[in-house]
Amino acid sequence: HAKEKGRNTYSYFTDKMNKEVSRRLAIEEQIHGALERGEFEVYYQTQVDITNNIIMGAEALLRWSNPALGSISPEEFIPIAEQTGAIIPLGKFVFLQAIVATTLWKKKHQSPFRIAINLSPCQFRDPDLVSFIIDNVNQSKMSPKDIELEITEGVLLSGHDYITVALEALSKAGFSIAMDDFGTGYSSLNYLRTYPFNVLKIDRSFIHDIETGTANKELVLAMVAMAHALGIGVVAEGVETEAQLNYLKSINCDYAQGYFFSKPSPVVKLLMSNPEPQCDIKTINSP
Ligand code: C2E
Ligand code: MG
Ligand code: MG
Ligand code: MG
Repeated sequence: HAKEKGRNTYSYFTDKMNKEVSRRLAIEEQIHGALERGEFEVYYQTQVDITNNIIMGAEALLRWSNPALGSISPEEFIPIAEQTGAIIPLGKFVFLQAIVATTLWKKKHQSPFRIAINLSPCQFRDPDLVSFIIDNVNQSKMSPKDIELEITEGVLLSGHDYITVALEALSKAGFSIAMDDFGTGYSSLNYLRTYPFNVLKIDRSFIHDIETGTANKELVLAMVAMAHALGIGVVAEGVETEAQLNYLKSINCDYAQGYFFSKPSPVVKLLMSNPEPQCDIKTINSP
């Protein structure tokens, strides 16, 4: 009896492992050439200045839809793209698309707009990363300050000199540097004092529990105060409710991003957003 149970447990685990391995292999196989086949698209999620309710920018988020596998989450395919090296051309694709989207936004709305782009640790191993970014921005009508480069602690963990050199070059060139998923890593505070960050993005796990967990309320308050004391702006990620937004406003958080405002969407839908949600109300009320 025991032997049988043991065997079942064993086959359960091997089944699960086989499934995971074959899913991984399928993704690896399909990601090859997927960019050339036009399977990737960049979506944009707006970021709102919560002091005046104006859309001040958006984050570029990669989407992949494959005929054999359906749509695959970036949480699943980014790590594989990093391991296979596919992240290098993908990262360039996102960057170029994001420049086009921002140019279109500025043409349509004539309002300031900052585009946030995620950079993976692997992209820093590309010796051409900095010149690729600077050259393409110079060729566009954008200024480096219109671009925010989001990095997570993972980029800094290795401590390689070339990462510090690249970040400092990008910062000197005028790009805004954001620390993504703040609060989830081990040494975020140490990195905050060592690297030239302009923006801190509070991870959505802290925002999620604002209404329920008291410790989270205090932690978010402390993160905002600390960032401001360092002269760093704060974006709250994953804002889903009005209560969360009201709390963030009450503690002077600068910006918010989340489903409460909008889900990530294709460029055409981004361009249809009204940058000033308050504008209509003012027009109606004024005599
Ligand atoms: P991230 O950079 O922290 O992006 C924010 C994630 O939170 C996005 O997930 C977004 O869709 C999600 N999100 C935004 N608002 C809400 C909300 O109110 N509620 C909830 N539950 N989620 C919200 P997404 O698009 O699935 O991306 C996941 C991660 O994949 C990103 O986390 C980023 O680390 C990575 N990623 C996505 N696009 C790229 C890319 O172009 N390059 C690189 N290197 N990484 C990317
Ligand atoms: Mg991000
Ligand atoms: Mg994040
Ligand atoms: Mg993340």
